[in-house]
Amino acid sequence: MRYCQRCEPAVGLEPAADVAVCARCGWTEPARREPLYVITGASGSGKSAIFAPLAAALPECVVFDVDWLIDPMKTTGPVDWDAFRDAWLSVAHGIAQGGRGTVLLGPLMPEQLVGLPSWRWMGPTHFAVLDCTDEQRRARLQDRPSWREHAIDEHLAFAAHLRRAIRTVLDTGTDTPEQTAQKVAAWVRTTAASTQWIS
Ligand SMILES: [Zn+2]
Repeated sequence: MRYCQRCEPAVGLEPAADVAVCARCGWTEPARREPLYVITGASGSGKSAIFAPLAAALPECVVFDVDWLIDPMKTTGPVDWDAFRDAWLSVAHGIAQGGRGTVLLGPLMPEQLVGLPSWRWMGPTHFAVLDCTDEQRRARLQDRPSWREHAIDEHLAFAAHLRRAIRTVLDTGTDTPEQTAQKVAAWVRTTAASTQWIS
């Protein structure tokens, strides 16, 4: 949340094109917008596996695995998932001020972001889903260490939902993480020129 540094009591700034403006006193400050890319997918899609090669392949963006904020947000009790997602949007907004886009790897859906407090500060937002066959996902999940959860049927159902809901589907079934990272980087660069606000 941005606040006017002149007004008393506190007034939240409003987004207007590429500035933030105080509705009371007219103060403005820069508020750039850069694209946000969400690489979603059910568990077993390969999101975490591509983090390192994707970060290396996309130096023009900042890449995060959204799971990194789960532990810090658990310290005061159960995770508030809307607050968790809103925190990531704030991070993306901060990164945009340096002129770079943000890539989030995480099981996010458009309807979970639209309407969050920080959503109105976002630039164009694009979703791609990493996908594989049910058999491949089952095998990947069964290979995981026991401390990770194994609700395989739930993950298969979520994967089917994402496959229907997200237009861009990138198949990771037989790729190495490096190959998938290259596919994602190519999609990010193609999509960067898109004039659509959300896709
Ligand atoms: Zn003000």
